[in-house]
Amino acid sequence: MLKLDGVTKIYKVGAFGGKTLTAVDDVSFDLRPGEVVSLIGESGSGKSTIGRMVLGLLRPTGGSITLDGARAAPGKAYYRQVQGVFQDPFSCYNPVFKADRVLRMIKQEYFPEVASTEWDGRMEESLKAVRLNPGQVLGKYPHQLSGGQLQRLLIARALLLDLRFLVADEITSMLDASTRIDVLNLLADLKARGLGVLFVTHDLSLGNYISEQAVVLYRGRVVEAGTTDRVFGNPLHPYTARLLASVPQLTTRWDGVPVVAADGPQEPSALVEAEPGHFVRRSPVSPREGAV
Ligand code: ADP
Ligand code: MG
Repeated sequence: MLKLDGVTKIYKVGAFGGKTLTAVDDVSFDLRPGEVVSLIGESGSGKSTIGRMVLGLLRPTGGSITLDGARAAPGKAYYRQVQGVFQDPFSCYNPVFKADRVLRMIKQEYFPEVASTEWDGRMEESLKAVRLNPGQVLGKYPHQLSGGQLQRLLIARALLLDLRFLVADEITSMLDASTRIDVLNLLADLKARGLGVLFVTHDLSLGNYISEQAVVLYRGRVVEAGTTDRVFGNPLHPYTARLLASVPQLTTRWDGVPVVAADGPQEPSALVEAEPGHFVRRSPVSPREGAV
């Protein structure tokens, strides 16, 4: 289990570092295998700072982050188990490396003992798991792949590591609508394979779709946390209620027809894009069909 306990991050800001900014303030939550936790909040609320601390890219000022009880420390043993995928897939790749080189580097770095032919098999398997066709992507440079393909390639790379936890920071925000839903569904597959995912998003409807636990951040503090159904169905904090109220698509389609059933089915086919970027669950029987 990945555990955050009272995690705080204070940045030094200003020309001479004389001022401070508390970006993350006493944040605690757990991420278990096979579970998606969405970390939701508006821009600047501290989501990426939390993601970067979990990935060991930033040191917390206070509190602790532990993996199975041991303090999270950047290094091979940790990165074999915990990896991140970010908003801009292009920035994560060296533009002169073809896809196969990116995946072979994992072997050099983490699995030097594995034979090349076996590694080729594992590469193929991980690409298929993210629904990429090895023949179509392996010989390509990043600029020859789409944003969605690059995002999948990053996830395939993560799978090669026998990953247990994935931090996904706004990974769908640069993708077009149909690719976005593919990547979301892929995360659901990974969850089914036992991966724990920290799904960082400013978009409530995505959080609602993908996660069973939701943590709502406001100015670095957790204002609400619980099961996604509870947080979305019965927000206890005014900030969450306000966030929900500003997303009318959650309960109403663009043409005013209600589409959400609180206990509606959650399989991907039940998802409707009510407005670009906003997915909602369709009622088991849509109101129109039901009103015969
Ligand atoms: P989010 O991902 O929710 O948009 P961030 O974690 O990126 O939020 O930022 C939280 C706050 O910390 C913001 O006010 C941001 O300006 C500030 N911040 C982020 N990174 C740094 C940094 N390296 N130095 C100083 N302030 C930072
Ligand atoms: Mg961010």
